[in-house]
Amino acid sequence: MRNIIMAVLIMALPLIATAENRTENNYSKTQKSMKTLNKFEFPHLPYAYDALEPFIDKMTMEIHYSRHHKAYFDNFVAAIKGTEMESKTIEEIFANMSKYPAGVRNNGGGFYNHVIYWENMKVNGGKPSAKLEAAIMKKFGSMDEFKKQFSDAGKTRFGSGWAWLSVDEKGELFVSSTPNQDNPLMDVADKKGSPILGMDVWEHAYYLKYQNKRPDYIEAFWSVINWDVVSKRYDELVK
Ligand code: MN
Repeated sequence: MRNIIMAVLIMALPLIATAENRTENNYSKTQKSMKTLNKFEFPHLPYAYDALEPFIDKMTMEIHYSRHHKAYFDNFVAAIKGTEMESKTIEEIFANMSKYPAGVRNNGGGFYNHVIYWENMKVNGGKPSAKLEAAIMKKFGSMDEFKKQFSDAGKTRFGSGWAWLSVDEKGELFVSSTPNQDNPLMDVADKKGSPILGMDVWEHAYYLKYQNKRPDYIEAFWSVINWDVVSKRYDELVK
């Protein structure tokens, strides 16, 4: 009897450990699966819905993640089902975006962009690494000037879209904005590169709390940037 109990306990240990780390592990898996597209999973939000209060409110986060993001994911999976895209990475699809249907562009972008966005937010998210800060200073002259250019990219995006800080093929930083669910990885983007910081400026990202005051949401966004994540992305791109 004791042996059986011991055996059950030993078997259950990995399950207990898995349950404790579930959010983090599933999220990491999804990050990986973005590079191996045939294993897409809808990611767990890396924090609670109210984690970014008071800057981004709980209800906005809940609707944004569980309805908007989920819909992009579901529609993207449906759009690539049974096509050659199923065997490609999402980066490969984005690099050839102009060849694929609008549904893939809108929903694939919507799926990917929100993963970037959730991950690059956190309350008390530190500050840029010394290396990233040096690159920002070199490119923009000051943190304030970078903040101004990035904020302006979001404020001046007409309708719906995103503001980005990205790294181009030469390893240089640049700020840009894309319409709808486009992103700088797509061949259709005006300025191409790899995003390291993304800010959603669709009304669904801020309307419940800020209504039409997009600049107020953008100002609040600076209080929830996860600089550790942004710096890590920069380090991975610029060795
Ligand atoms: Mn959104």
